[in-house]
Amino acid sequence: MRFDESYSGNVFIKSHSDYKESQAVIYGMPMDWTVSFRPGSRFGPARIREVSVGLEEYSPYLDRELDEVKYFDAGDIPLPFGNPQRSLDMIEEYVDQLLADGKFPLGMGGEHLVSWPVFKAMHKKYPDLAIIHMDAHTDLRTEYEGEPLSHSTPIRKAADLIGPENIFSFGIRSGMKEEFQWAKEVGLQIFKFDVHKPLCDVLPKLSGRPVYVTIDIDVLDPAHAPGTGTVDAGGITSKELLASIHEIARSNVKVVGADLVEVAPVYDHSEQTANTASKMIREMILGFVK
Ligand code: MN
Ligand code: MN
Repeated sequence: MRFDESYSGNVFIKSHSDYKESQAVIYGMPMDWTVSFRPGSRFGPARIREVSVGLEEYSPYLDRELDEVKYFDAGDIPLPFGNPQRSLDMIEEYVDQLLADGKFPLGMGGEHLVSWPVFKAMHKKYPDLAIIHMDAHTDLRTEYEGEPLSHSTPIRKAADLIGPENIFSFGIRSGMKEEFQWAKEVGLQIFKFDVHKPLCDVLPKLSGRPVYVTIDIDVLDPAHAPGTGTVDAGGITSKELLASIHEIARSNVKVVGADLVEVAPVYDHSEQTANTASKMIREMILGFVK
């Protein structure tokens, strides 16, 4: 008799057992060594997996079931504690391999800096990449307390790499005045406070483009997602985030990869953040992996 892992909580619910046959790969990036405030997101991916067994396999939004997509949960990348540069190098190499194997990468953080090496890998494969970024924070700093490797910098690094005009930030309500000014000067579009409405305007302009979607869970209001390191009042609802994921799924953009970061279970006493994140991951699988 073969033990069925797909409901064990060790892997994301209904994860396929064979890497080779899978279209998408879910992987964890358990790093939180550069956070500016409360650490703990290194435990995010494991908890999102564990609570995923509480999900239904069917999405009434998309009229699609998890059985219709083959995805493999590869577990967490074993990152070296306290060494951000080597951790980032390992993530980049890992995603390079996923892309070489033709897989759709679906990452779970971890702090938001883990998205930076993923952006690099994606950009190597898709030179005309655009990034859809949902977050409470601009993440446009060049450094934090003199440290260029910080979770407040990944979108600035991405802008320098792929061009600020190819980045679209939604739900933003926190950052330094200089960050907002810089974005305006260089043409990085920041849509403050809301996500769904401005997204509806932007998506037609990205039609046909390869797009990477990065979601920082703190884009949600702390009432919807208290389990994260840097909560920020005035955020969107989980209903709006779902609608935004579905809007992207139904658009003509070519989603080539995605991640969801910054879930920190230690502040998540009701587990509502992990549960919400796991539902978002389900909708991203069903909506983005064609
Ligand atoms: Mn962020
Ligand atoms: Mn944030």
